[in-house]
Amino acid sequence: MSSVQKRTDVILIGAGIMSATLGSLFKELVPEWEVKVFEKLESAGEESSNEWNNAGTGHAALCELNYTTEKPDGTLDISKAINVNEQFQISRQFWAHLVNKGLIRNPEAFIRSIPHMSMVQGENDVRFLKKRLEALTNNPLFEGMVLSDDPEQLRDWMPIVMEGRSVDEPIAATKIDSGTDVNFGALTRMLFDHLTGQGVEVNYKHSVEDVKRLANGLWEVKVKDIEANTIETHTAPFLFIGGGGGSLPLLQKTGIPESKHIGGFPVSGLFLVCKNRDVIEQHNAKVYGKAKVGAPPMSVPHLDTRFIEGRKELLFGPFAGFTPKFLKTGSNLDLIQSVKPYNVVTMLAAGAKEMPLTKYLIEQVLLSHNKRMDELREFIPTAKNEDWEIVVAGQRVQVIKDTPDGKGTLQFGTEVVSAEDGSVAALLGASPGASTAVHVMLKVLEQCFPSRMPEWEPKIKEMVPSYGVSLSDHPELFKTIHESTAMALGLKEKGVVHN
Ligand SMILES: Cc1cc2nc3c(=O)[nH]c(=O)nc-3n(C[C@H](O)[C@H](O)[C@H](O)COP(=O)(O)OP(=O)(O)OC[C@H]3O[C@@H](n4cnc5c(N)ncnc54)[C@H](O)[C@@H]3O)c2cc1C
Repeated sequence: MSSVQKRTDVILIGAGIMSATLGSLFKELVPEWEVKVFEKLESAGEESSNEWNNAGTGHAALCELNYTTEKPDGTLDISKAINVNEQFQISRQFWAHLVNKGLIRNPEAFIRSIPHMSMVQGENDVRFLKKRLEALTNNPLFEGMVLSDDPEQLRDWMPIVMEGRSVDEPIAATKIDSGTDVNFGALTRMLFDHLTGQGVEVNYKHSVEDVKRLANGLWEVKVKDIEANTIETHTAPFLFIGGGGGSLPLLQKTGIPESKHIGGFPVSGLFLVCKNRDVIEQHNAKVYGKAKVGAPPMSVPHLDTRFIEGRKELLFGPFAGFTPKFLKTGSNLDLIQSVKPYNVVTMLAAGAKEMPLTKYLIEQVLLSHNKRMDELREFIPTAKNEDWEIVVAGQRVQVIKDTPDGKGTLQFGTEVVSAEDGSVAALLGASPGASTAVHVMLKVLEQCFPSRMPEWEPKIKEMVPSYGVSLSDHPELFKTIHESTAMALGLKEKGVVHN
C-alpha cells in the first residue's frame, strides 16, 4: 500500500548527530519551517553517534598525533591541528548556547572534562613529541599543554600505563586538562527531544528507500514504514542526507552530477572494554599513541576514560577492520551495490592503490583476543585478558574520489556534497566526525542557502560568537569564549592557564 503525504520545508534523513545538529540550527534560524525526519531504527543516535559505537573524543587535536605532521625539512605542519581545534570550539559554543537558552539541560550527561594525553616511547618519537609541544604551545588554542619525560611524573599522570613498564627506552607524554569526553549518543538523543518539543516530526522505523527530483523542483523521498509495511512519499524543497554510512547510496539515488565519481570504503571497528572496576577507577585520561605503520589515521588505538550512562568506563581501541557493510545494521551487499558504471573506474583505482590498507584491515579482523590484548599491553603492561571484552563499534565509510592527486584517492576527512542549486546535501566521511558537527552543518547552510546567509548571520554570531573569525589569531576572544563555554557546559578545566 502506498500513500502521498503533504509537502514539508525540510526533510532530514537519519537521526544521528548530523541531522540533530542541522535540525537544531534550522529551529533557531527559521523556527517557522516545517521539518520532518525519517530514521530507519527505533530511536535516535543508534548508529555511529551511539556512545558505544564511537570513541567519544572531543577532537580538538590536543592528543591526536596524526593532526601534526613532520615536513621533509624537519619542521612541523600544525595547520590541521589548528583547524580541528577551531572547529571543536564552534561545537562548544553552539552547545553552550543551547544550554544557556534552556533548550537542552544537564550538560554533564553529554560532556565532561578529561585530560588528553599523547604518549610515545623511543628516541625518535620523543623528539617528535617535544617538537610538537614547542610548535603547539605558541598557539593560544593549545595553552596549558605540558610535557614530561620523567617516569615518576608519568606514573602520577597515568599509573596503570606506567606500572610494570620498562623505561630502558626514552618515554614522554604531553597532558592538557582542557580535553573532553563527549557522549555523542546522549547529545543526539537530547537534541532530538528538543526538536520533537519544537514540533519536528521524527519518524522512527521509517527507512528511506528512494530519492528523486520532481519536475516542479521538489525532492520526493519514498519511505517505508517498517512496522506497517507501507510506502509513503514525502516532498520538500530541501533534503539533507544524514544517513551516516548509509548516505552514499542515497546520494547516488539523487542522480546529481556531484554524486558521480565518488565511492565509499567501509572501515569497521572494535573496542576492548574493561570489566574490572578497580582498573577503571585507576585511570583518568584519554591517552593516544602513534599510528602503526600501514594503519589508517583514524584507527590509532587509544586508552580512553569514558562516561557512559553516568558511569566511568575504560575503553581501548578502536581496532580497525573490514566488512562490506556501510552501517553496523547494514547489509553485506552495501559495498558491491555502491559500485556503479559512473564510479567503477574511481573504485577500481582506489582498490589497486589501497591494497596494503585492505590487507592491513583484513589482518586486523583476524587478530585473536590475545593479540588484541598484546596491543593493549603496549598501553597497560599488566592488563589481564579476563578483565577485557570485545564490543563492536560503528562503521566508518571513508570517501573515495578523484582528486588532483589521482583517480580513486581515499579521503580521511568529512565531506559535504551538495547540488549546485543547494536543494540537496549529503554528509559523507567520518573524521574528525561528530566533534565538528556544528562547523560541518554551518557549511551545509553556507553551501545550500547562500542568499539567506546575510539574514541568518547575526543570529549565527549570537549562537557562535567566533563564527567567521580565527580564534587562533584572536587570543583574547578565545580566552573569553573558552571560559564562558566551560562555565555553561560545567567543564572543570583546572589545567588551563590564561595570561
Ligand atoms: C569507531 C568509531 C570511532 C569514532 N570516534 C569518534 C570520536 O572519538 N570523536 C568524534 O567526534 N567522532 C568519532 N567518530 C565519528 C562519529 O561517530 C561520526 O562522525 C558521527 O557519529 C556521524 O554522525 P551521522 O549523524 O552522520 O551518522 P550516524 O550517527 O551513523 O546516523 C545516521 C543515521 O541514519 C540512519 N539511516 C541510514 N540510512 C537510512 C535510510 N535509508 N533511511 C532512514 N534512516 C537511515 C541510520 O540508521 C543512523 O541512525 C567515530 C566513529 C566510529 C565508527
